[in-house]
Amino acid sequence: SRPVQVVVLGAGSWGTTVAGLAAHNTPTLLWSRSSAAAEEINTERRNSRYLGDRELPAGLRATDDIIEAARAADVLVVGVPSHAIRSTLSEISNEVRAWVPVLSLAKGLEPGTRQRPTEVIAECLPGHPVGLLAGPNIAREIADGMAAAAVVATQDDRVASALQPLFASSVFRVYRNTDVLGCELGGVLKNIVAIASGMADGLGVGDNTRAMVLARGLAEMTRLGEAMGADPRTFAGLTGVGDLIATCMSPASRNRRVGEALARGLTVEQAVAELGQVAEGVKTAPTVMELARDFDVEMPIAAEVEAVVAGRRTPADAYRGLRKVAPGDEH
Ligand code: 13P
Repeated sequence: SRPVQVVVLGAGSWGTTVAGLAAHNTPTLLWSRSSAAAEEINTERRNSRYLGDRELPAGLRATDDIIEAARAADVLVVGVPSHAIRSTLSEISNEVRAWVPVLSLAKGLEPGTRQRPTEVIAECLPGHPVGLLAGPNIAREIADGMAAAAVVATQDDRVASALQPLFASSVFRVYRNTDVLGCELGGVLKNIVAIASGMADGLGVGDNTRAMVLARGLAEMTRLGEAMGADPRTFAGLTGVGDLIATCMSPASRNRRVGEALARGLTVEQAVAELGQVAEGVKTAPTVMELARDFDVEMPIAAEVEAVVAGRRTPADAYRGLRKVAPGDEH
């Protein structure tokens, strides 16, 4: 039988890195919206905009033709930002063969509908098995070959079992989980805590304060998840506390960097422009607060982040009472 053809949509840092992981195991095609990026990947084996000089595996091919990519897929991986999934998949809804499993890499919610990426995908590509790949996975470290682990979450464990070996390697361990909701919400909600964490670091808070933000952030992530029907234990795993720690700690995290930029006094527009990439937590924060109200769950950290992102509060005010008060400062 011929090998499984993996197709990854979206050649950002994580889409490119996941395509590189798959290319070690099976033929892999990466779709980039940019013809220059596709060309660079094919001829120089680099994606310099997102991954600098890192060399991509020889087996990885790229295209800017989304129809060609969709038709080739035995497994489809969706690596575009959450807000762009629906419009991207609308271009190919009639091109993907029936039964092709679809895996989301996105960690945000669709503004307006409040849907998770797997829900958007299921609407755009009805009848396909849909799941996600998530975990503490800072793209550059994995592109550098450093060890990491992730989870493939699908409702039907047989689908995850089939997908697991396509992405796994001796330094990239892939686990399975059937709590799709819990795994997906972990990745979505940690981004908001990472913005809070970046603001904390930018303001120069102490380590006790940073630990408090992580622990209480995890508590509110778990509370909302449980209210929505997820298994609370999922938040104690790789896709919950694991991804929370990686994202809050890593200077490479886009969400953390936005938080730091806000603490430096930049507006959210300036912070996002300086980043030049998508930080999912910025668009997702107001949507999460809508869910918190709907499910009647208290999320004080997300509420502060949402207020800062909306420009109603400064980071210093969000951390009022949590910083050392300098002599002369008002209480
Ligand atoms: P950022 O989007 O903040 O870079 O987070 C990366 C991530 O999700 C690591 O698992």
